[in-house]
Amino acid sequence: MKYRTATHLCCCGCGMEVVTPLNPAKWHLSDHGATVSLHPSIGNWSFPCRSHYWITSGKVLWASAMSEGQIRRVRAGDHRAVEVEAQRESRVDQPREETTQSASWVTRFIEWLRRLL
Ligand SMILES: [Zn+2]
Repeated sequence: MKYRTATHLCCCGCGMEVVTPLNPAKWHLSDHGATVSLHPSIGNWSFPCRSHYWITSGKVLWASAMSEGQIRRVRAGDHRAVEVEAQRESRVDQPREETTQSASWVTRFIEWLRRLL
């Protein structure tokens, strides 16, 4: 949490190290005490295994494989989310209204849902 990063070995067993930055544009780590959840899903598109899974309450839930087109759309959405987060962080000294933050979160969530379809 100190470095806002989580790492784990790929759940397929290939041995690759998966590094997930923890910020609103990337992943969120929920600590449940004995277990953790990492959201959204982990898509190891650049690994030979190309595994895709969720880590929820300490369990690995395997997700379906994604086509090249789906992966491109996910990456484009991730890129947009990073840009939005960078803009938000650059305005961190300015007062923000809670409704603006909520709208931003909802917008990103809707984009994420669209990428899944
Ligand atoms: Zn793997």
